Amino acid sequence: MPRIYIIDVTNRDGVQTAHLGLAKIEKTMVNIFLNEMGVFQSEFGFPTTRHETNYLNANLELAEMGVIHPIRLSGWMRAIKADVELAYQMVPKLKYLNLSISTSDQMLEGKFQGKYTRDDITKMMTEAVKSAKDHGAQGIGVNAEDASRTDLDYLVEFALAAKEAGAERFRYCDTLGYDSPFTIYERISYIAERVKMPIELHCHNDLGMAVANSVSGAKAAVDAGCDAYINTTLNGVGERAGNADLVSVLLAIKYANGLSGKYELDPRTNLKAAWKTCKYASYAFKVPIPITQPGIGANAFAHASGIHADGVLKDRKNYELYDFEELGRGEPEIIETGRRIVVGEYSGIKGFRNVYENLEVEFKDEEEAREILELVRFANVEKQKPLTEDELLFIARYPKQAKQILTLVP
Ligand SMILES: [Zn+2]
Repeated sequence: MPRIYIIDVTNRDGVQTAHLGLAKIEKTMVNIFLNEMGVFQSEFGFPTTRHETNYLNANLELAEMGVIHPIRLSGWMRAIKADVELAYQMVPKLKYLNLSISTSDQMLEGKFQGKYTRDDITKMMTEAVKSAKDHGAQGIGVNAEDASRTDLDYLVEFALAAKEAGAERFRYCDTLGYDSPFTIYERISYIAERVKMPIELHCHNDLGMAVANSVSGAKAAVDAGCDAYINTTLNGVGERAGNADLVSVLLAIKYANGLSGKYELDPRTNLKAAWKTCKYASYAFKVPIPITQPGIGANAFAHASGIHADGVLKDRKNYELYDFEELGRGEPEIIETGRRIVVGEYSGIKGFRNVYENLEVEFKDEEEAREILELVRFANVEKQKPLTEDELLFIARYPKQAKQILTLVP
């Protein structure tokens, strides 16, 4: 039976969102956390954007070293040959990518101003796919932007052309969050039955249905015999009202009536890392987690009313659909309430050594300690907020890659 996989786009859709952004070292940590969550692929950035280059190349090196592995790291770019060529100039070791182009009449008229016909769009896309193949791409997804407002038969034609050119997946983008679970099921069924290739669901939350649409679309693909790949983000960040929240999607497939036990998730997915991953994303984006957030919110396992509290104490299954332990919750967390030495961009060696001693990291000599201190200072300059323990450990373990990630040359 076909499976449902996750392609997370926090480091692409999430960071391109108004009012949101991540430092390059935070994007790196997101890739590490997503790998721990067993996500199939992280859309990790923009290979044609110059300020991403060092980050992307260093992360691909970390992938080669096995630090960010087995997750795939994929770049996003427009489905035009010039973008592909530029991407491979700047990020030569790129193995996976998604190529995006608008397909709806609205976009052809309203965005491209009638400059391209549907045939032109297909041709640009296939040329881009072939160019990526020539440059050594191993896995290519082709995105139909605004697919939910695109003529269905044209989408089939577009996806078949992508498949023939060598793409491995077709991404159906509900760019405006226009679909409903009913329409996306019908539309994906129609496409999947005709193209017989793995389908990605990229859904936005403008009508509050991103998660519902994603799982409905995935169900349609699997029912038609195709693997499904749901695009998610951490805590649902993303353009406007956001994308499908990663944890909600995993919970829905595992526990929703009609999906639970019937549809198979990528066996690598691991909800145990959800709690710390979502908390990290909240800290890094500086966006609090709503108390009602599925699985992760402060109220997700809280009970106050007499009837509920009594019921859940007798048997948790009375009022809880899944267990908090499964999400990595329930472990004690230590918060220092006395003196704290923190490292910042103006820290000295004594305080710095104290911080790393508490993390049980030893340096082989003074020179190494000073080298790591310098990197930590630069990381503070870039982030403008205190580094987490995971970030401090990352810098100490992989100083060469950390230095590359921290190097921004306009
Ligand atoms: Zn999007």
